[in-house]
Amino acid sequence: MNAPLGDGTRCVHAGSSSPVPGGAVPPQPVLAAQYHLSEQHHLSEGPGPDFYGRAGNPTWRALEDAIGGLDGGSCVVYPSGMAALSSLLRVVLRPGDTVVLPSDGYYLARSYVREHMTGLRVREVATAGEWTAETVAGARLVLLETPSNPGLDVCDIAAIAAPAHAAGALVAVDNTTATPLGQRPLALGADISLASDTKALSGHSDVVLGHTSTTDPELAARLRSERTVSGAVPGPFEVWLAHRGLGTLDLRLARQAENAAALYGVLRGHPRVRSVRWPGSPLDPAHPVASRQMRRFGGVVTFELDSADAVAGFLAASRLVVSATSFGGLHSSADRRARWGDAVPDGTIRFSCGCEDTADLVADVLTALG
Ligand SMILES: *Cc1c(COP(=O)(O)O)cnc(C)c1O
Repeated sequence: MNAPLGDGTRCVHAGSSSPVPGGAVPPQPVLAAQYHLSEQHHLSEGPGPDFYGRAGNPTWRALEDAIGGLDGGSCVVYPSGMAALSSLLRVVLRPGDTVVLPSDGYYLARSYVREHMTGLRVREVATAGEWTAETVAGARLVLLETPSNPGLDVCDIAAIAAPAHAAGALVAVDNTTATPLGQRPLALGADISLASDTKALSGHSDVVLGHTSTTDPELAARLRSERTVSGAVPGPFEVWLAHRGLGTLDLRLARQAENAAALYGVLRGHPRVRSVRWPGSPLDPAHPVASRQMRRFGGVVTFELDSADAVAGFLAASRLVVSATSFGGLHSSADRRARWGDAVPDGTIRFSCGCEDTADLVADVLTALG
């Protein structure tokens, strides 16, 4: 039996086609909207050769193979993380259904359900809160986000999936912060793993993209068909860029996690820092569950300064840290989350460690803190 391949090897080879002499080594984008039809081509027969760019594309399939292989399920790519999430919500929820959402997760998940869907019963639960049979009773869908964004709290996916399944619910995990290398929700009992691949998976802050992966082929087919009909389809060029970025995910995450560990070390106990969270540290309250269910940790650290002014001063004094929303890219960036309406203190910063040298980044952050 062959030894299982490591993360680096899997990322480099993810979604590669079999070698053909004279063919390109890396995956190449196919941008076509039109494809030659044969007389035998009946669209009603479903997926066959490509015929129109909204229904299918070789470049999508290459990335779907790549991410699906890493997630351990059947993957459908979307033009954004929100397109992936909203498509899932539209496909699995009907009026009268109960949906459980993280009260401290990505804010637009709650907005979408409350403002753009009708007739649902919404139950909000904190990621680090009590998850009992009552929490999930009567639910059609339980959405988890772990580690949560921006607080970096963690919940036990397997321990929640059991009562949720007993209650007849589907379990979906927003796996954006972890990436498929950091956590495999499907292997932990979730039915769906979804993510914004705008973040670490693509990793170069130059593409907006998302995906769902599921172990249920029938659900994957429904999601794929909803994508075709709703028309929320990703551009092949963006999909190709994400595939290109995925090749170095292992390397980037390794450096980002190294930077996060070093930063956590100097921020914890720093006189200007009120609190700091990074589930990768044994000192973090989320570490016991995180170290059990996660395969490795990423580069996002959340910490709190005294005020919005203190954050502005920190950013102005830094040479390397850019003020920007989003995370997981090559460049270290900081986002003061209260500006977006997250229920966090004014001075809370979600800090995304980039791929700079650790000594340079730590020195810059310490100088900027003064
Ligand atoms: C960014 C993000 C989303 C939304 O993804 P987009 O690609 O911006 O649409 C969803 N969930 C989490 C946890 C995110 O960080």
